[in-house]
Order: sequence, then C-alpha cells, then structure tokens
Amino acid sequence: MKLLIVLLVVLAGVWLWRRGRRLPPTRDPARPSGQAALPMVRCARCGVHVPGDMVVHGRQGGYCCAAHRQEAEGA
Ligand SMILES: [Zn+2]
Repeated sequence: MKLLIVLLVVLAGVWLWRRGRRLPPTRDPARPSGQAALPMVRCARCGVHVPGDMVVHGRQGGYCCAAHRQEAEGA
C-alpha cells in the first residue's frame, strides 16, 4: 500500500512538471527571436566581430568603436 502511494506521488509530480514545461518552442522567453537574427559585423580596423546593433558605421565599413573608425579614416 505504501508503494502505491509513493507511485501516485511520483506520477503526480511528473504530470505537474510536464504541464509546467509545455511551452511552444517558438515562444521561448529566454531567447527573443529578434536577437538571434542580428548579423555580426567585422571591425575594419582590428577585425573584432561586433553585433549589428553596436556597429559604428564609417565610410569604409563598420567598426567596433568610434576610436577605431577615427584611426582608420582619420576623421
Ligand atoms: Zn576595432
């Protein structure tokens, strides 16, 4: 009888766990879809790859920071 109660508790726990984890794979709140699609841009001065929204744009391409744009373009 005791074994049956333990089995029921384990089954209830598994059921609750599966119910809580039932999330659509496309709507994972930990990873917004817009962030993964950002292109990586290579700095024309030092070669470091920076995310698309952090790129400093210059006449000869993208840079990791304003200092490198200034060094490369002299402006
Ligand atoms: Zn750089």
